[in-house]
Amino acid sequence: AKDRGRSGYVVFDAALRGALEERQQTEADLRMAIDGGQLRLLYQPVVDVRSGKMTGVEALVRWEHPTRGLLGPDAFIAVAEDTGLIVDVGRWVLHEACRQLADWRAIPGASLTMAVNVSARQLCDPGFPGVVTAILAETEVDPDAVCLELTETALLDATEATIATLEALHRLGVRLALDDFGTGFSSLTFLKRFPIDVVKVDRSFVRDVAADPDDAAIVAAVAKLGRSLHLETVAEGVETAEQLAVIRRLGCRSFQGYLFSPPRPAADIPALLPSPRRS
Ligand code: C2E
Ligand code: CA
Ligand code: CA
Ligand code: CA
Repeated sequence: AKDRGRSGYVVFDAALRGALEERQQTEADLRMAIDGGQLRLLYQPVVDVRSGKMTGVEALVRWEHPTRGLLGPDAFIAVAEDTGLIVDVGRWVLHEACRQLADWRAIPGASLTMAVNVSARQLCDPGFPGVVTAILAETEVDPDAVCLELTETALLDATEATIATLEALHRLGVRLALDDFGTGFSSLTFLKRFPIDVVKVDRSFVRDVAADPDDAAIVAAVAKLGRSLHLETVAEGVETAEQLAVIRRLGCRSFQGYLFSPPRPAADIPALLPSPRRS
């Protein structure tokens, strides 16, 4: 028994050390990736439910890893958050997204908006509003064309300082969205407590919205809440025409999802712009 115990311990120890080493490797690699230009942004269209036209995009980060291939956020955002590297990743993402937006807004007739995901760790950083201000000034992007997406978990242990940050951002004129709405525990409290402009209905409610009356009731309630509180509602993860028909009937203003387009490289976006009206 003693032997087994000991060997079990060794296995556990080795596994732990392996995981730890992998994390440290990821951290070191990520540090180089930020400076070495290995991060990329894909853009997913946000579409007006009624007109069917793209009104904006959400920037979604990817890492072109030299040996592991193209990595999605699930492979590195958690490590970035734990190590604090998310502050640098987030600054790069916001800068690149605003630079890209300035390009697109120079196209006649195009007035796209840009949504950018912001993690808790970035919000806690007292320098964050200053970073946002500097990036907006440098890229000459209208603050109200930019929407920062926050998750409920990011706001869960919001301190007075976080609230002050959100209010400072709102005064700058950037819009604030509550992402993955409905998946946390205190969604309604957050709407009351923070200066939110947009709620994004989580994909988990949209998936079965056409078949499950409970999901439909939840989406309808969020859409109604949005109208009463003057919030824009965006349904996430719309994959079928049937889902779109239902969220349209329930009153969501905008949607994202594979039905219109998956996240795409920047070069693909202009072709999806509504064609300018001919006179
Ligand atoms: P999110 O903000 O909820 O982004 C939506 C995710 O749903 C994206 O995954 C997108 O590719 C995926 N998606 C879009 N339409 C559909 C659909 O119709 N069906 C399905 N099944 N999925 C769809 P992605 O790009 O892997 O991003 C995952 C998460 O990583 C994001 O969830 C966001 O929380 C985080 N993330 C992405 N970029 C950044 C970033 O720059 N900074 C931070 N802090 N987090 C980021
Ligand atoms: Ca998001
Ligand atoms: Ca989301
Ligand atoms: Ca508001």
